[in-house]
Amino acid sequence: MPQAESTAVYVKAQDRPVREGQFNYIAFNGGDRLGRAFGAFAVCLLLAVVAVFIPIAHFVLVPGLIILGLFMFVSRYRAQSAAQNVTVTCPVCEQAVTIKLDAEQQPPFYCYCSNCSSNLHVTGS
Ligand SMILES: [Zn+2]
Repeated sequence: MPQAESTAVYVKAQDRPVREGQFNYIAFNGGDRLGRAFGAFAVCLLLAVVAVFIPIAHFVLVPGLIILGLFMFVSRYRAQSAAQNVTVTCPVCEQAVTIKLDAEQQPPFYCYCSNCSSNLHVTGS
């Protein structure tokens, strides 16, 4: 079962004092990763079966969807966690903000404050 976890991070912006924030993510164990990988592969395989009935386009779609399914299987299986957000008091605007992240983002990374759009540098503890 995926676990919601968090870790401390430091958020810097220009010459402002460094703030401590919280990096929230979902951690996957071996079974979760395998389940997510097979789920993605199954969706691609199902779409490939549907594409068999599309004249001419099936010459490209069927092998393309099978290759995409294999790629998705490997990328999903390798993902050990999925980033959710960073909660921090912005060093620039001094507001408590929650910054949404892409699933593959891991500290260190740059992002923008969701309140004042300042460029923030997030680093691990
Ligand atoms: Zn801000």
